[in-house]
Amino acid sequence: MGEEKYNPYLIAQSQFDSVAEMIGLDQSTRQLLRQPSREFHFTIPVKMDDGTTKVFNAYRIQHNDARGPAKGGIRFHPDETVDTIRALAMWMTWKCAVVDIPLGGGKGGVICDPRTMSPGEQERLCRGYIRQLAKNIGPVVDVPAPDVMTCPQHMMWMLDEYEVITGGHYPGVITGKPVGMGGSLGRTEATGYGVIYCLREALKILNIDIASTTASIQGFGNVAEHAARLYTQMGGTVVAISRWDNVEKKSYTIYSPNGLDLDRFASLKEPCGAIDKAKARAFGYEVLDGDAWLAQDVDILLPCALENQLTPETFAKVSPRVKVICEGANGPTTPDCDELIKARNIMLIPDFLCNAGGVTCSYFEQIQSNTNSYWSKEEVLSKLDAKMTAAFKDVYELAEKEGLYLRDAAYVIAIKRVAEAVKLRGWV
Ligand code: GLU
Repeated sequence: MGEEKYNPYLIAQSQFDSVAEMIGLDQSTRQLLRQPSREFHFTIPVKMDDGTTKVFNAYRIQHNDARGPAKGGIRFHPDETVDTIRALAMWMTWKCAVVDIPLGGGKGGVICDPRTMSPGEQERLCRGYIRQLAKNIGPVVDVPAPDVMTCPQHMMWMLDEYEVITGGHYPGVITGKPVGMGGSLGRTEATGYGVIYCLREALKILNIDIASTTASIQGFGNVAEHAARLYTQMGGTVVAISRWDNVEKKSYTIYSPNGLDLDRFASLKEPCGAIDKAKARAFGYEVLDGDAWLAQDVDILLPCALENQLTPETFAKVSPRVKVICEGANGPTTPDCDELIKARNIMLIPDFLCNAGGVTCSYFEQIQSNTNSYWSKEEVLSKLDAKMTAAFKDVYELAEKEGLYLRDAAYVIAIKRVAEAVKLRGWV
């Protein structure tokens, strides 16, 4: 299988093309929506602590803004490619549309490894990113947010640089800010919690008590950790988590048939980024290969890390017991693997629905920032639950009615909404 087949942009386009065909979308709308509206490619020179200047390649891609300002995160990753960001920008458009929030889709990225950069270098990189882009973003134009390896502090440096350039306070230009500086309570938990709100609804439909289930998770970043915590609070048992060891540059799966204690698991990561395997064994946990998370005998799989993790090759190891797959990450399943998942009748909750809790809470943050009035955490989370539950139900009902795979049903709803906006604006 060639690498090109797993190019996320080609995957996003092929998913779009097949649903566009299914719903008989006109050719001009297809042409408009199967590629981004605007792309910014730029360089950021950063003065490093050793006195040298390093030049980073960076991007911001606005896929579509017919339903509202472009919205989406900025990721810092050494393996970032322009095609990954194109795919992610496109998925943001569908994500905002499927949960029915008035925003379009965008995504940004910088090819860099923040784990090897000092806080000062990261701050200069964030400010440099905004200096290059300030004219092309804004609260009513394009609103960035955190993504892989970016956090509230990065957002705060970016906001400050934007406000220095524009000479005013515009907290609505970026979301995922620190609480107290325009950030929303609940934003940190929102993506992971949204995943579990969807899972809860899926299990109700399957008539399975969440407290009787076990799960295996890939990742322990912001999405995975909060998903694991809410799932555990609801009574589920996490038996395996795969996590990156930044010293050995590989991941490990930590496994316990009786369930992992999440605080203990979190304590295994050392400040240098290594995983303390001896401590894991002392807790009575097994230390397995990075891929072992997907081969466990569990009811639920939660891929919450990066793209292209479930392929026909890795899927061959997935236990016949698995009933639900929650795509916490963006694009974790390849299209050829989707076919195998369909054939096994596993309920797959597709990424742009399953992980839409983050952007939904970003939308709540924007409302709060733009009106300068802030909500309680309970209010944020109950609005988030209502939005995610309603979106899940709409997608599930359409899938049932038309006999569709959940990913296709979610696409049908999202593409129709965006196509309608494009039409009403008279763009096609
Ligand atoms: N990066 C997150 C995502 O992929 C959040 C985007 C946002 O909050 O704008 O959905």
